[in-house]
Amino acid sequence: MGRIEAATQKITVTLPDGTPLELPGGASGADAAAAIGPGLAKAALAIRVDGELRDLTAPLPDGAGIAILTDRDSEALELIRHDAAHVMAEAVMELYPGTKVTIGPPIEHGFYYDFEFPPEVKVGEEDLERIEAAMRAHIEAAEPFERRDVSPDEAIALFRDQGQDYKVELIEDLVRDEGVETVSLYRNGPFEDLCRGPHGPTTGRIAAVKLESVAGAYWRGDESRQMLTRIYGTAFFSKKDLEAHLERIEQAKARDHRRLGPQLGLFMLREEAPGMPFWLPNGTTLLRLIEAEVQKQLRKRGYEEIKTPQVMDVELWHRSGHWDNYRENMYFTEWGEREYAIRPMNCPGACLVFGSERHSYRELPLRVAEFGQVSRAEREGVLHGLLRVRAFTQDDAHVYCTEDQVAAEVADICEAIDELYARFGFEDVKVELSTRPEKSIGSAEQWERAEAALREALESQGREYQLNPGDGAFYGPKIDFHVTDALGRSWQCGTCQLDFFMPERFDLSYVGADDEQHRPVMIHRALLGSMERFAGILIEHYAGRFPVWLAPVQAIVLPVSDRHNEYATKVAAELREAGVRVEIDERSESVGKKVRDAELGRFPYMLVVGDKEQEASVVAVRSHEQGELGAMSVADLVKAVYTAET
Ligand SMILES: [Zn+2]
Ligand SMILES: [Zn+2]
Repeated sequence: MGRIEAATQKITVTLPDGTPLELPGGASGADAAAAIGPGLAKAALAIRVDGELRDLTAPLPDGAGIAILTDRDSEALELIRHDAAHVMAEAVMELYPGTKVTIGPPIEHGFYYDFEFPPEVKVGEEDLERIEAAMRAHIEAAEPFERRDVSPDEAIALFRDQGQDYKVELIEDLVRDEGVETVSLYRNGPFEDLCRGPHGPTTGRIAAVKLESVAGAYWRGDESRQMLTRIYGTAFFSKKDLEAHLERIEQAKARDHRRLGPQLGLFMLREEAPGMPFWLPNGTTLLRLIEAEVQKQLRKRGYEEIKTPQVMDVELWHRSGHWDNYRENMYFTEWGEREYAIRPMNCPGACLVFGSERHSYRELPLRVAEFGQVSRAEREGVLHGLLRVRAFTQDDAHVYCTEDQVAAEVADICEAIDELYARFGFEDVKVELSTRPEKSIGSAEQWERAEAALREALESQGREYQLNPGDGAFYGPKIDFHVTDALGRSWQCGTCQLDFFMPERFDLSYVGADDEQHRPVMIHRALLGSMERFAGILIEHYAGRFPVWLAPVQAIVLPVSDRHNEYATKVAAELREAGVRVEIDERSESVGKKVRDAELGRFPYMLVVGDKEQEASVVAVRSHEQGELGAMSVADLVKAVYTAET
């Protein structure tokens, strides 16, 4: 018996915990799962072989490290969503013969498939239920996913016969670009698709599926190519998980700031200025209230405030490096002989201010804040309400300091962020530290010191953080801050970045204790990031029901009838005098209708005034938080508003 023959008879693979497992030669992932235990054999969806995900049916190579994938693995959802995309294509081909299929990948929360339907067929959201029903029949049938590998020529002939031109194009590209010699086909039921895989054992593993929406998409994202119909769906391992997902979507819809913005008189978006919000009176008040909280931090932490121009000579942007690195995102304008740029960032203006004076080391750290409006050219397709815009205000600041002062400064910025976020109801703040990217300026030593300073600042506060190696800006390492909102969604807000580059570019210096000129380190920091984006996050976090201190209108006075308007006006004036933000509903509507509308307006307090209240010089108070509070004097109500504020 030669060694070769022995090797073909038995193979040994290694389990995740390092245990060796001996199997007959040619054994598959399914065999391995069965050898480990019947429970795992049933639960197995796919197998990881030396780190690569494969079908259970594929034979295992000798010596491989293996791990069986079950529905407990985070990637398992992606796998069954890919399965579900194939089942959707199967159902679509059955219901709409002559449809051309293209591609159907899993995506973050589900999957999609792009189809070219025959010209006489129109598929819209009203058809999704029908497609879903057909999918369920195939899922119940637990059709196995069967793979075969064929030559590109054979696959091309097969798809050409079926009139599947897109598949033919895909295979031709694979041959041309990657020089593939075989392609894999996956069959489920009567449907066979070009696909790299892997797939689960059968369609039966998709426990819950839902088709969600229909959209248009160009073939390969190319506007000159065919417009296709994209159907989005999602799949889960249980009906319960699917329901929880649908519930989250409903909640997110109800909180959508793009809907609440106009409804609550906060802001509006207009076709005349895409990506540039119009702030309405309530929204402008909200921005002022947010700004006031930032101002408190500025005063507390020794920041000075400046305002610099929005439009500056294009030469400045050459000097700052923005022309070279950021030109595509900038707006330009001309007047007379000169060319100008509308600022996308506030830093160059701040550097001109710093550089206009001689500075002594005794002034450092010099902390200079600016609520600076910036404009960035973004493609219209990526704009999204207040979250992705073309014009916004940064709560920006630049700190000029010595290298030795960096750690303490950064720790102070972290503390400001903690206090500020807690004030707005965000307790769960995630921190990421990003280090030197491949393309960067400055010496390795400088980077090491800067990264060490940031780490030291984070560690001195016992703060957990995630490290993103190579994700820093080209001019220095940075720390990003993320808040988690009421729906568990994470939003990046604040940032703190070290910069060796700009002080060089602007030849900034200070006079040290040694009477020599020294180069300061520059820290760019924004606590909230974009004020408007933060407002959008707050609107969704609170679903428009702001806490009393943050509500643009804290109370609304509701006269029972027209003859109470005068008393209502007097009450409102007294409240305003005491600093309460108040409105009156003077319409000639029933008080019931006024209360219902006030509910929709999400005011923290409703103050009903009729004969009884007028005679007793009180208001009948209804608090959103606490329910009916009964009759109160204006003075007591003012006290309640201010108690609620703290
Ligand atoms: Zn596929
Ligand atoms: Zn800056």
